[in-house]
Amino acid sequence: MTNKKPLTVGITGGIGSGKTTVAKIFSILGVPIYFADDRAKWLMGNDPILISKIKESFGEESFSESGELNRKYLAEKVFADTEKTKQINALVHPAVGKDFEVWVALQNAPYVLKEAALLFETGSYKQLDQVINVSAPLKLRVSRVLMRDPQRTEKQINDIIDKQLPDEEKNEKADFVIKNTENKLLIPQVLKIHQALKTKADSGQIDI
Ligand code: ATP
Repeated sequence: MTNKKPLTVGITGGIGSGKTTVAKIFSILGVPIYFADDRAKWLMGNDPILISKIKESFGEESFSESGELNRKYLAEKVFADTEKTKQINALVHPAVGKDFEVWVALQNAPYVLKEAALLFETGSYKQLDQVINVSAPLKLRVSRVLMRDPQRTEKQINDIIDKQLPDEEKNEKADFVIKNTENKLLIPQVLKIHQALKTKADSGQIDI
């Protein structure tokens, strides 16, 4: 039997845009989803090569004695320091990229989704055939996040937004845009893109 490599599709969007919500709708349609941010966290605590690289660059304190990732220590080191952010990204993103490739090869579907907050910003969109951006106005996004994560402050949310490409730029770069505003239904938009991606996959699948 010939195994077909699925079309790889990124799904991104700024904080609170609703990319996870939209990805879950695709999942109900049977589309395999790779949640890159969750997987990155898992790899940082479980991939021996990545763990040793993190220790080398950020010190043994990056992990507890029992071997758990010291997220608080790393976050404090990295968040306010652009160079250190670049350094950790240069370790984590290639590891996620490789892990994604392995995961894709195991999927049996016309197309798969990779959900990540930063696809354009990190360059990882280059590994993908198509990208969907989930778009919503800034004010709505901030209010959604405040509702979802009441422990977060508006300042913390804005600091994250400052590290993300503006929505307008992401819309321009994306192949598909889903508008997740209060007056637009999500499901018809998802169904339309699902159909388009299946057609594209049928016409352009690569034999592996
Ligand atoms: P993050 O980047 O922080 O992970 P995200 O882009 O994945 O955010 P979600 O977690 O999907 O966003 O959505 C943010 C919050 O807004 C969630 O609580 C979700 O339930 C809610 N939400 C998203 N879309 C809608 C919608 N169309 N109607 C109502 N609530 C929504």
